[in-house]
Amino acid sequence: MSNSKGVKHESFFKNVEKYFDHAGQFTKIPSGLLNQIKVCNSVYKMKFPVKVGNEYQVLEAYRVQHSHHRVPTKGGIRYSEGVNQDEVMALAALMTYKCAIVDVPFGGAKGGIKINPRDYNEAQLQRITRRYTAELIKKNFIGPAIDVPAPDYGTGEREMAWILDTYLAFHPESIDGYGCVTGKPVSLNGIRGRREATGRGVFFGVREAVNIKKDMNEIGLSTGLEGKRIIIQGLGNVGYHSANFFQEAGAILVGFCEIEGAIYNKNGIDLAELTKWRKETGSIMDFPKAKNLNSSWEGLEQECDILIPAALENVITKDNAPRIKAKIIGEAANGPVTAEAQEILLKKGVYIIPDLYLNAGGVTVSYFEWLKNLSHVRFGRMDKRFTQYAFENVVDVIEKLTNKSISKKEKSIIARGAEEIDLVDSGLEETMVTAFYGIRDVWKKHRKIEDMRTAAFVTAINKVADAYVAMGIFP
Ligand code: GLU
Repeated sequence: MSNSKGVKHESFFKNVEKYFDHAGQFTKIPSGLLNQIKVCNSVYKMKFPVKVGNEYQVLEAYRVQHSHHRVPTKGGIRYSEGVNQDEVMALAALMTYKCAIVDVPFGGAKGGIKINPRDYNEAQLQRITRRYTAELIKKNFIGPAIDVPAPDYGTGEREMAWILDTYLAFHPESIDGYGCVTGKPVSLNGIRGRREATGRGVFFGVREAVNIKKDMNEIGLSTGLEGKRIIIQGLGNVGYHSANFFQEAGAILVGFCEIEGAIYNKNGIDLAELTKWRKETGSIMDFPKAKNLNSSWEGLEQECDILIPAALENVITKDNAPRIKAKIIGEAANGPVTAEAQEILLKKGVYIIPDLYLNAGGVTVSYFEWLKNLSHVRFGRMDKRFTQYAFENVVDVIEKLTNKSISKKEKSIIARGAEEIDLVDSGLEETMVTAFYGIRDVWKKHRKIEDMRTAAFVTAINKVADAYVAMGIFP
């Protein structure tokens, strides 16, 4: 196996299975049911032709539905040269566990097209996306009640809009058709806050972790994000927004790694300045306020407190794990640490906040978007003004009773109804914080569970098992 960077590694799906099997022993679930939870329920591999310039290319693509214990199934679509069946299966499985952890009522799925999107222009990408969607429709692999894609590595709002439009063309009668895909532009019934959601979720997860004194004492760090030195790998949607929230909270962004290389400055790199630089020059390299490192890989091994891999799987392997200096690894990407690497890191005492929890903010807000699409009304529309008036009345009564007046500015802070974005952000924070303590409880209360990933898997497996038992399929 090799990832999109051509680096050899063990099978990603086997990695996920290893984590699963290790966690399985800490549950009371019989082996038959564990096997049912572990396997991928449906794997759809397709090949289809697309005209590119004067030639026809035959493209390879996938959609995997890992678990039907709950429907619809849910998960992103990835455009990358590294796409293969093993990768999509692993990512689909992680989606099942991720949804279970944050109580998002979906089974896991994932899709991918084996292309480098940079090799195609916009019109060609649109043709590829529409054809892929048509293939999904043909086999009943997409729909608001069946399987709901979303963005992933190499895709975004634009692709989701094309998927939606293709789906609606085939299902003009479907009143809930807009719920066939999430991560859509707001102008096409997407939801405010979805773009930043994964990064915001990463921020909440790391913030909770570093606020626990006992846990920080164990790894020799002080509490709080302020002043923590952070390295970000990947400046895509997830990496960029995570970095932004960390910087806002007073953390110091000391390093960045991207495809073109890595940069480092122990005193910190301003994200806005770096983003501007990259836009102008097409690269993070030669940024005047940081030093260039020899390779992107070297960037991962620099001095820092927290390392945030936010791009692809298998970037921390048994080869570079011994040289990682971070005390916390926050897995914003899916599968960035291999099972072999994890063994080494845990021995070194590294605190790994696992992907299946930490990057669940994206699918959480996707769930909110799906709910919005099914209810056909924007969150906040029915009650924003009502809440505002109710608070205003309370403020008036307080003024009368106390004979004191509250300033206009204070009034506007107190008497405010929630907008869609307020509700999305607060729903996301509630979800991430609750899930964090749920997993930590399992981790700290079970003597033999040594790491947060195992605790997260145990939490997820138990929830999926409960659904199967409730269905009466397993005793
Ligand atoms: N691709 C994202 C993930 O890996 C989002 C999935 C979704 O929103 O359905 O979690």
